[in-house]
Amino acid sequence: MDAEIISVGNELVLGQITNTNVAYLAAKLTQLDLTATYQTTVDDDRIRLERVINHALTRSQLVFVCGGLGPTTDDITMPTVAATMGVSLQTDQRHWKWIQEKFNQRQISMEPENIRQAKYLVGGEPLANPVGLALGCWYETGGKVIVVLPGPPAEFKAMVDKSLLPKLQDYYHTEKQIISRTLNFLGRPESQLMDEIATVTKNEKAVVITSYVQPTAIQVRLTVRDLPFEEANQRIDRVQAAILQVEEPYFFGVGDNLTLAEVVVNLLRARHLKLTAAESLTGGLFQSTVCSVPGASNVFDGGFVTYAASAKEKLLDIPAMLISKHGVVSSETAAAMGEGCREKFHADIGIGFTGVAGPDSLEGQPAGTVWIGLAIKGRPTVTRQLHLAAYIGRQAIRTLSVQYGLQMIYR
Ligand code: ATP
Ligand code: MG
Repeated sequence: MDAEIISVGNELVLGQITNTNVAYLAAKLTQLDLTATYQTTVDDDRIRLERVINHALTRSQLVFVCGGLGPTTDDITMPTVAATMGVSLQTDQRHWKWIQEKFNQRQISMEPENIRQAKYLVGGEPLANPVGLALGCWYETGGKVIVVLPGPPAEFKAMVDKSLLPKLQDYYHTEKQIISRTLNFLGRPESQLMDEIATVTKNEKAVVITSYVQPTAIQVRLTVRDLPFEEANQRIDRVQAAILQVEEPYFFGVGDNLTLAEVVVNLLRARHLKLTAAESLTGGLFQSTVCSVPGASNVFDGGFVTYAASAKEKLLDIPAMLISKHGVVSSETAAAMGEGCREKFHADIGIGFTGVAGPDSLEGQPAGTVWIGLAIKGRPTVTRQLHLAAYIGRQAIRTLSVQYGLQMIYR
């Protein structure tokens, strides 16, 4: 089944923004066994957009037109799609009323143009927008489907996930049944992980295994097609068990959007444990990551950012001698940071991060050298050294340090 994505917008054509929407949608389509074999970008121009849509309809059964559903005159997508299909637009009265209520509630005056965001193709079906004003549209014609989606990424993702995917699943249900599960790993290079997985799963041909490298995890997706629900799940269970027999130490959970921070916060919450941190190279990123999880307040009261050596001494009572003897980037300093913050906050778990974010080296240690110290009440303090690749850059070194810290807590 050929699908085609048309992205609309001057900013895209000029290279002012990155087309994240197309990547998002293409990945979602792949999960449904639909491939976006053609992907086109066109500027906000009615004639060119019409040409691109007509061309797409000659070669693809499913055509997505993304962006340009705003209220302003440069937002031409919905009327252009309608004109190309030879139909007019109609107003979704309920949605139009809802838009008006939104404006009243926020006490801002509405422009008459806003009614454009409640319009969709006659003969089509509106697609709800859970986080914005503009409706999308699903329109079927001669065995083909054309779908109109908004541009702002938050609206785009919400409409794809909440309105479009259920509709697509319904539409193709009779053709294919696809069941998949995503396993999340951290701490093993993707190639190594996938080689090992291939070895232990080579007898299970019905389960297709694919991997995706995310900034904070390696996701491994197990997919089964065209088998009854029960059997598909049993096969996925078997493959998962085989994989975890060898990869358990790197596994942190099941789910498409699962984060390690979420797993750790929920684990500590269930065990009534409190967490604190002292951060040097991560500069608060660990604490921010923990706080991004709803319910973090149950496990986190506060912590420290101790960037300079003097701050480590002043705030955490680490002896200046210890730092000068072993160095800032050392197992001893990381351990003292973990222990120091834990004591200050009377927490169950204290974690310390010290290292070289780069690009320059520090104390003769290259960028990417990181020490993490984990102090857990009633247990000996443990430390771990990371040797991250300097070329991944400062931000990635900081992000990965946080993830490895979370992994130490999770273990
Ligand atoms: P608006 O009401 O904001 O105008 P719209 O549906 O008309 O919404 P666009 O005008 O196409 O959407 O885009 C709005 C903004 O959304 C753009 O300025 C850009 O920041 C972002 N955006 C649009 N398309 C994409 C895309 N394909 N990938 C990433 N960001 C995008
Ligand atoms: Mg716009």
